[in-house]
Amino acid sequence: MIEVWIERREECLGEQACVVICGEVFQIGEDGKVVVKGAAGDEFEVCVKEAEESCPVNIIRWRRA
Ligand code: SF4
Repeated sequence: MIEVWIERREECLGEQACVVICGEVFQIGEDGKVVVKGAAGDEFEVCVKEAEESCPVNIIRWRRA
């Protein structure tokens, strides 16, 4: 499993880069900012990492749990 969280969520721009890259893990909440759906399986490590690298404000964090 990998654990995913958002640091400084208030800085999220809501432009959905992470959702397009890894929609199984990220979605946009009613307030227009990112929401993590929950812990993800190892198979999502690649797309979470890609989302992390693509986030324009560098707020996506993850680790192997
Ligand atoms: S890529 Fe970053 S700024 Fe964009 S919606 Fe996702 S967390 Fe927010």
